[in-house]
Amino acid sequence: MLPRNLTEALRLIRAEALSPAEVVDALFRAIAEREPVVRAFLALADKEELKAWAHAARDKPLRGLPLAVKDNICTLEFPTTCASRLLEGYRSPFEATAVARLKAAGLVVQGKTNLDEFAMGSSTENSAFGPTRNPWDPTRVPGGSSGGSAAAVAAGEALAALGSDTGGSVRQPAALCGVVGLRPTYGLVSRYGLVAFASSLDTIGPITRTVRDAALLLSLMAGHDPKDSTSLPVPPQDYCADLRPALAGFRLGLPREYTPRELGPEALSLVDRWCAAIEGLGGEVVPLSLPLTEYALPAYYLIASAEASANLARYDGVRYTLRVPAQGVREMIAQSRALGFGPEVKRRIALGTFALSAGYYDQYYGKAQRVRTLIAREFDEAFAKVDLIFGPTSPTPAFRLGEKADPLSMYLSDLFTIPSALAGLPAISIPAGKVDGLPFGLQLIGPRLSEPKLLAAALALEEALG
Ligand code: GLN
Repeated sequence: MLPRNLTEALRLIRAEALSPAEVVDALFRAIAEREPVVRAFLALADKEELKAWAHAARDKPLRGLPLAVKDNICTLEFPTTCASRLLEGYRSPFEATAVARLKAAGLVVQGKTNLDEFAMGSSTENSAFGPTRNPWDPTRVPGGSSGGSAAAVAAGEALAALGSDTGGSVRQPAALCGVVGLRPTYGLVSRYGLVAFASSLDTIGPITRTVRDAALLLSLMAGHDPKDSTSLPVPPQDYCADLRPALAGFRLGLPREYTPRELGPEALSLVDRWCAAIEGLGGEVVPLSLPLTEYALPAYYLIASAEASANLARYDGVRYTLRVPAQGVREMIAQSRALGFGPEVKRRIALGTFALSAGYYDQYYGKAQRVRTLIAREFDEAFAKVDLIFGPTSPTPAFRLGEKADPLSMYLSDLFTIPSALAGLPAISIPAGKVDGLPFGLQLIGPRLSEPKLLAAALALEEALG
């Protein structure tokens, strides 16, 4: 039997009631059964190889337990492709700090998970290597862009995984797959070795079965890293040791902008149940308004695309893997990019280049930056009145493959995760009921570096609603 989560596996292993090799066997049984349909992984260790790695880590605190890693996070054991033709087969000469720290604690990387190309998307359909499917219903998407990580954890193919969250890519797939996803405060977990999409927004976060597992992984990854100049000057902290469910006396803000009528009666009555649960646990629900919410999406798509257009300029057919032979250097670069990038990545590069171009800079990029500052200020003002903010993680449960064909309808899936990302705030999604028979996530958002409080409240709600 597969242990239900990382913490339980660790407890059983320490009690000598389970071995890491048995965990590997159980994961590979789930993989054999479900992976042909789910397709969460782009690369996977060989079973015996993984057991050998686990054995080598047996004396470390995490005892060689396996971890799945999103394929835009650099690893030494496997290629790092970002689900792009341009990086097919690319092997990083270094590994991400987050991965190095988790390995030092005794986790081993079992494989690399699928994503929307360069983490641009909300469904994992933008992967150059084919979509991942939702384990709850294979006609539906797992969300994105960390869809492979969320699906692997939900399907029992991984005990825990790493994702990346720029505008919602850890939380939204966690919500759509019925698992836990944590976006840490910007700068708390090093971005070193996370392939850059939008550097002022990018974060690495855990995707797990439980809140306690998320706290465990965060404890092992967090803390200053001199290799990332935006890494916060905070020492590592144990978010697990003192973690207790707590909600009594907390004021929880519910922004009216996060519960629009369009959510539909089933989701809205679920939110009512969350409010009752919060009050049952001694918390207070405080109605709130965040009127700038409607400007977050356009500001995000300008800022994120502008940064992406600069970051992705490095893929020139000279460095990295894909090179299309052509007459002359300019033609070679143009053709390598034309063939290497998918349509969504090209759309973002075009939009970002335009937004940054002379004459338009202030009108688009400059304005979006000013909106971003105002949104951060609006959150600060809200947190003067409440401890945490909550609402649905995403407006809908998992949608069908192919359902959101126009880009705007896809972007709307991140309506509730983007504002807090722009403000650099930590946020967590936990499974909190069903809508249309599918998992529906509750998101909690906190002030910067409020992870201990955020996790304590999430743990209380997980127990009440899980
Ligand atoms: N879905 C959003 C986008 O497409 C967020 C992606 C992310 O967080 N990596 O940009």
